[in-house]
Amino acid sequence: MKTFVRCGRLFTGQEDEATKNAALVYDEAGRIVYAGPEKGAPKPGKSDRTIDHSGQFVMPGLIDVHTHLAYGNAKTEEDIDLYAPLEFRALRGMFFAQKVAAAGYTAICSPGDAGQVSLSIRNAIEAGLFEGPRVMAAGPYITSHQGLTDWYPTWIGAPTTSIGRLVTTVADAVEEIRWQVKNGVDCIKIAMDGIQRRPDGELIAAFTQEETDIMVRETHRMGKKAVAHAGGREATLYSARAGMDLIFHGFDLDDECIAAMKKSGSMLCPTLTQPKNIIEFTQPHEPAGQRGRPAFAEKRYRIGCANLKKAKKAGIPFLTGTDSGFAVTPYGEWHARELELFVDDLGFSKAGALRAATETNARFMSHGDEIGVLEPGRLADFTAWDGSPLADISVLQDKRRLRGVYIAGREIKIADRPYDPREVTDFSLSNWTDLYTQARVAELRGGRRRLEAAE
Ligand SMILES: [Zn+2]
Repeated sequence: MKTFVRCGRLFTGQEDEATKNAALVYDEAGRIVYAGPEKGAPKPGKSDRTIDHSGQFVMPGLIDVHTHLAYGNAKTEEDIDLYAPLEFRALRGMFFAQKVAAAGYTAICSPGDAGQVSLSIRNAIEAGLFEGPRVMAAGPYITSHQGLTDWYPTWIGAPTTSIGRLVTTVADAVEEIRWQVKNGVDCIKIAMDGIQRRPDGELIAAFTQEETDIMVRETHRMGKKAVAHAGGREATLYSARAGMDLIFHGFDLDDECIAAMKKSGSMLCPTLTQPKNIIEFTQPHEPAGQRGRPAFAEKRYRIGCANLKKAKKAGIPFLTGTDSGFAVTPYGEWHARELELFVDDLGFSKAGALRAATETNARFMSHGDEIGVLEPGRLADFTAWDGSPLADISVLQDKRRLRGVYIAGREIKIADRPYDPREVTDFSLSNWTDLYTQARVAELRGGRRRLEAAE
C-alpha cells in the first residue's frame, strides 16, 4: 500500500520555491517514492490511501538541534540540576518531547542533559512505546573547574543529578566519553565556555586546545559527534580547530574562528531565541531583571548578530536551535521563532531559514540523510500548514495553522494536555524576590496608598 498526499504547495527543502499542486507519495515503510508536480505522480491503485492537503503548504518536519529534554522549563540552574529525580525528569521529558512534536518538530537534538534522560526518551520512542519526535541525545556536559555547568562552589561540586560532569584530568575526560558512548549517546557535549575573563574582558576557555583536541578525537574515534557550548572567541576557536561538529552560540567569533571552521567543517547553531526571549520577556521584578540580565543580553545579541553575519557570508552552515527547556523558552512554544530571527536579524531569506531548519539541520542529525528533505529514498517526515511560511515565516509559530505532523508517513496526534507547572518544575526553595527593609516596606505601602487614592 502506498500513500498519496495531495499538496497545495510542496516545499521539499531542496529548492527555494514551493511547487503548486504537487504530490508526495510514500510506501508502507514511510519511504518517499515520489515528490513533485501532481501531474507527473504515479497513479494511485485501489488499495492505496490518499491524504488531502490540497489546501495546505506541505514541507519537511522541522528540526530543532538545541532542545534540552530534561530541563523541564527551568527557572533556575538548581531546577535543572537538583530538585527532580532523574526518573521523574525522564517521564516529564517524554511529555514535553511530545509537545515539541505537536508544534511541527519531527526531530530534535537534546545537546546536554542530566543522567541518561534524553537517550532513554529516544529509546522509548524508537521502541514504539510512545509517540514523539526523533531524538538525538547527548549525556551530561563534560566540564572543568573553569567551565559552564560547574556553577556551584567548589565545596559542592557538580552533583550526580546535574547536567555537568566535572572532569579534572584528560584521562577523566576520555573515560567519561567512553562511559557515555557505552550507554548509547549520539553526541558528546563539551562545555567550552569558561567562567574567568582576562583583563581585556575576553572569556577564557574551560579547556586548553590540547585537551579539546583529545576529547574531540576520542569522540570521533567512537563514531560519535562532538558539540560545544562556545560563546566566547577562544572557546569557539579551540572548538573549530579541534573539528567540533557543531558549535552553539559563537557570538564572539572572529575571522580566525571563521577560517578554522571553514578548514575543519564545523557547523554553527547561534540559538537566538533564548537571548531574544530573555530580552523581551524578563520582567523588572524577576531576579534576572534585577541583575540587569536583559540589558546585558541585548548588548551581547547585537554584537553576536554582527559577528554571525560574517560567518554566514563566509559560507559557514547555520543550524536552527532554540535552547528550549527554560522558563523563557518553554517546550512547544518558541521553536519556530528561531526562523523568524534568522530572517530579521541574520538576513536569511525565508526559504533560507526554512532550509536551515530542515535540510541543513538534518546534515548534523543522526541518520540525517534520511530526513530533512522530501525526496525519493528519504523518510516521509513532513508537516502541513494553512498559509505559506515563504510569505510569512511566523506562520510556523501558530499551532492553529498546523494541520498535520507525520513521522515516517504516520500521522502523530498528541492531545494538548494542560499541566500545572508547580507540580512539574517549580521545586525551588526560594521564596522571595524582594528584600523587606523598613524603607522598602514604606515604599511599597506608599505605592499601594497612591493606587488606592487614584481609584
Ligand atoms: Zn543549551
